Amino acid sequence: MKKKQFKAESKKLLDMMINSIYTHKEIFLRELISNASDAVDKLYFRSLTDDTVALKKEDFYIRITPDKEARTLTISDNGIGMTAEELENNLGVIAKSGSKAFREENEAGDSNIEIIGQFGVGFYSAFMVSKKVKVISRAFGAESANCWESDGSDGYTVTPAEKDSVGTDVILYISDDTEEVKYEEFLDTYRLSALVKKYSNYIRYPIKMEVSSTKPVEGKEGEYETVTEDRTLNSMLPLWKKNKSEISQEEYDAFYKEVYYDYEAPLRVIHSKTEGQATYNALLFIPSHAPFDYYTKEYEKGLQLYSKGVLITDKCADLLPDYFNFVRGLVDSEDLSLNISREVLQHDHQLKLIARTIEKKIKSELLKMRNTDREKYEQFFTAFGTSIKFGVYSDYGVHKDELTDLLLFKSSYENKYVTLAEYKERMKEGQTSIYYASGESQEKIDMLPQTEAAKDKGYEILYLTDYVDEFAVKTLMQYEEKKFVNICDAEADFDTEEEKEELKNDNDASEEMFAFMKETLGDAVEKVRFTHKLKTHPVCLSSEGMLSAEMEKVLNSMPGNNGVKAELALEINANHPIAEKLKALYAEDKDTLAKYTKLLYGEARLIGGMQIENPVEFSTLVCELM
Ligand code: ADP
Repeated sequence: MKKKQFKAESKKLLDMMINSIYTHKEIFLRELISNASDAVDKLYFRSLTDDTVALKKEDFYIRITPDKEARTLTISDNGIGMTAEELENNLGVIAKSGSKAFREENEAGDSNIEIIGQFGVGFYSAFMVSKKVKVISRAFGAESANCWESDGSDGYTVTPAEKDSVGTDVILYISDDTEEVKYEEFLDTYRLSALVKKYSNYIRYPIKMEVSSTKPVEGKEGEYETVTEDRTLNSMLPLWKKNKSEISQEEYDAFYKEVYYDYEAPLRVIHSKTEGQATYNALLFIPSHAPFDYYTKEYEKGLQLYSKGVLITDKCADLLPDYFNFVRGLVDSEDLSLNISREVLQHDHQLKLIARTIEKKIKSELLKMRNTDREKYEQFFTAFGTSIKFGVYSDYGVHKDELTDLLLFKSSYENKYVTLAEYKERMKEGQTSIYYASGESQEKIDMLPQTEAAKDKGYEILYLTDYVDEFAVKTLMQYEEKKFVNICDAEADFDTEEEKEELKNDNDASEEMFAFMKETLGDAVEKVRFTHKLKTHPVCLSSEGMLSAEMEKVLNSMPGNNGVKAELALEINANHPIAEKLKALYAEDKDTLAKYTKLLYGEARLIGGMQIENPVEFSTLVCELM
């Protein structure tokens, strides 16, 4: 019998697809099941208006039958089937998709059915795992069946065949195993069940398979028997397609735990149906804790993406901005335009649109949580706040306005989390800046001399203890016209005009002494001067430039960044007895003044939580003076 050749472009496309478009061979099963589901949909649709269709909705099914001995895998359905002509037209040319033609024909009527296949390439994925494919099909209304057969490269034949009932059997002759690929896995019932669960769990007709397992014989200890049972592999119930009002919190929680492998219920569920420019269902979850790999490179953000209930990809990263990378969940859309195949989602316009609306939804839901359930929001922020803060700082701050309202900082007022709005609300009369301090921990910050002074003046301080905090704050620069000021910055100044004047005079009077002290310390500091911002402590280090001492620490702990230096000023408490002592030494004994200067500098570093550059010299000086 003479074989018919695939239409010229088909063969080329076929090769291309098999080798490149689909990255995972396993998706052939999803494609064939989707085709079967479409075929069943078509007959079901017909049954609504045509009494000659004897089947009721519950009679429809899809069946998978692996046969290890024959090395075949059969995917059967009792859907609409294909005539000889349809076999030829639908399977002979790649670009022509029967489903699309069917939809267009039905466009006028009230066609409720959703047809998965639109692109006319899915069927060929069968050749990724098969050396030969037979399609035996009997069309609805036809008395006889036909068999389409091909080895994928060398054309195809269509011949009369036997089939008792309406529907289609797609028989795959599974390829021989190679060194790299063990095709045999596609005959394994365990593996097949898993694939159905993964990709086709929400197909709305039962996908059945006979599964054998070994079980102990009842009443006879030590004896086992092989039991074969017919199992339905898919759950068929896409939770997100149900109405919100019909879903209980327990159902959401159970779904989340099962699908996203979490042992704890989510903090928040976002379930939305969107219509308009982009039509999709989204079911999103905000986890209650960070997954174990959240802070590692291995963690991948992303949402599951479905097209009409069929999984396209498990982790679609483009749907989430980095700062919302903690969100889990899925999006199911009917109108994704997929290039050539479901597998290749390129820079899709529709997808971008969906991503944008999803981002807005997540943000408004987080704000709602902050306003109505503060405790939960704080739990959320403890787990994922770093991402938000990182979002403020990344990409040169382009997202900062979006994210400011989501921020929380620990504050010295009641030692609790506060929002920037709450801080601003409480600001003292005449206070023009938002004061913060950064350090490893709240305790360490409380030990800073500057903290003591600021608190003494009654200012609320934000504790920046996360390594990204100060970078985020510097990116924000201000909140509603209130500038962020590090209390360890030189510009942090709690003095009245009068006090400022007095300090300036003091400093001017000791200018020469400070020049001497600065020279003693060399490059370590930019300046030495008196300050009023200390209460009991004699000295502190303040940063003069953009970079604080804490930022210097963080930056230098990162690889390739050694040698970053904050510009520091050594400030001496003008009201401390040491001030007079220094003045006296400058007049009488410059050698000792030099030693004192080094000691005070070391002391300031220690109090500031920094390391001493030369501990040996420091310790020798201490002993000498003792
Ligand atoms: P798509 O599914 O994207 O339309 P395919 O290459 O997978 O493209 O299938 C081509 C066409 O073959 C389908 O549109 C459908 O008309 C027909 N077809 C495939 N599988 C079946 C089946 N099991 N039963 C009936 N028709 C089928």
